[in-house]
Amino acid sequence: MSDKFDVIVIGAGPAGYVAAIRAAQLGLKTACVDAFAGKDGKQALGGTCLNVGCIPSKALLDSSRQFHNLTHNFGVHGISADNARIDVPTFVGRKDKIVKQFTGGVAQLFKANKITPFFGTGKLLKGNDVEITGPDGAKQTISATNVILASGSVPIELPFAKFDGKSIVDNAGALDFTEVPKRLGVIGAGVIGLELGSVWKRLGADVTIIEALPDFLGVADADIAKIAQREFAKQGLNIKLGAKLGKAEVKNDGVHLTYTDKDGEQSLVVDKLLVAVGRRAYTDGLLAADTGVKLDERGRIVVDEHNHTGVDGVWAIGDAVRGPMLAHKGSEEGVAVAEWIAGKAGHVNYDTIPWVIYTEPEIAWAGKTEKELKDAGIPYKVGTFPFAAIGRAVAMNEAVGQVKVIAHADTDRVLGVHMVGPGVSELIAEAVVTMEFKGSAEDLARIVHAHPTLSEAVHEAALSVDKRAIHKGN
Ligand SMILES: Cc1cc2nc3c(=O)[nH]c(=O)nc-3n(C[C@H](O)[C@H](O)[C@H](O)COP(=O)(O)OP(=O)(O)OC[C@H]3O[C@@H](n4cnc5c(N)ncnc54)[C@H](O)[C@@H]3O)c2cc1C
Repeated sequence: MSDKFDVIVIGAGPAGYVAAIRAAQLGLKTACVDAFAGKDGKQALGGTCLNVGCIPSKALLDSSRQFHNLTHNFGVHGISADNARIDVPTFVGRKDKIVKQFTGGVAQLFKANKITPFFGTGKLLKGNDVEITGPDGAKQTISATNVILASGSVPIELPFAKFDGKSIVDNAGALDFTEVPKRLGVIGAGVIGLELGSVWKRLGADVTIIEALPDFLGVADADIAKIAQREFAKQGLNIKLGAKLGKAEVKNDGVHLTYTDKDGEQSLVVDKLLVAVGRRAYTDGLLAADTGVKLDERGRIVVDEHNHTGVDGVWAIGDAVRGPMLAHKGSEEGVAVAEWIAGKAGHVNYDTIPWVIYTEPEIAWAGKTEKELKDAGIPYKVGTFPFAAIGRAVAMNEAVGQVKVIAHADTDRVLGVHMVGPGVSELIAEAVVTMEFKGSAEDLARIVHAHPTLSEAVHEAALSVDKRAIHKGN
């Protein structure tokens, strides 16, 4: 036994590394074990989010957006650039630099907070010992009073379209194409499929997204999803709903797909196939057989409302447990668990977790959809406001989409805010604050919003709940 810690965190994704930092801030002697290796083979802290998820996808989304604007949207401003080209190695290389900056940043934060990092695979043993197997196979065991399991998630693989890292790829593969695929197939019109499909579409790929469900973006509010679907179709993203993939065969001329839709069996040949049908909690090799930590029917670590596993001193957070697979959800659980361990009052409000899809236009929401309220029999009223009537959005030539505020019919309390349009990934924060403080549509309506800003759409939508929006008919 080499060392005894107050807290060992297994996994240094946004759940685990944030938990480790908060634990260290609270004076707890903390270690963090992570197995992720970067392109250079060295330890790369930050998990899926920093290495192959949130950050690299946003880097490519931003670069591809610049290119798309240059080639498609700048003409209206009187700006022309003939023969615009994209250099894919530079495009991907910029992303890699950003990833390195942020994974290195976590290492520095660990140093500053005196957190001991271990590079290797951690396995929880009975009695809160953790066995670490290093990249060279060497084993060591460390021990702690508390262990936080933050092992995250991995992409779900389809048995008939297995990842080969070349033609059939997961999110990591689709962030690293060496050239723009002429024809890109995407299985799954969820967040990852839409974002990465958009990246390569903007660079000129012919993108077809095959989605088994009949409704587009069923998790979002139906009105918002409808507007987004219309905009994506205008951009040329070919989204086939109610289409079930049956087979994907790699041949010399590409990946041959067979899928079934309402008209029967269809076929399609693509150069690359991204399978983005969801992610599963990752616990392979994490738990010795006698730890007592349980998994549910979906392989997620079972926890109570305090993220405690029921085994003394063992906690679990992030994608490995129930709840939405979002970085900020995992981080907040990490903070809360560190505070509970230190005897403080941790807190995560699952009712106000914001969702964002970084497409063009962006999609964001927090709280309940209209359908959820209808199904629950909760009386509500709705106010909407289009970005077409927002001066700033028109000046930016991005006047697409709307903000929708849903408030309780009797109390006026804001129950959900749903947006599609420019900059809504930032605008959603105001909705979250309002809901966190149990605010009403009237509260939002009374707040002075700067003019001209995109946030005026939130203000006007709140006014519209009471049929008194100024810049539209009510
Ligand atoms: C393409 C893509 C884009 C995304 N974009 C967003 C976004 O914009 N916003 C958002 O909120 N979310 C986004 N997500 C989701 C987000 O990445 C995850 O919700 C988040 O990373 C989960 O954090 P986590 O710490 O629970 O797990 P992870 O980030 O998966 O980290 C887990 C870490 O634990 C390590 N590990 C696992 N088992 C062991 C073990 N036994 N021993 C040692 N180490 C181990 C793994 O190697 C990994 O480093 C995106 C995901 C993808 C794939």
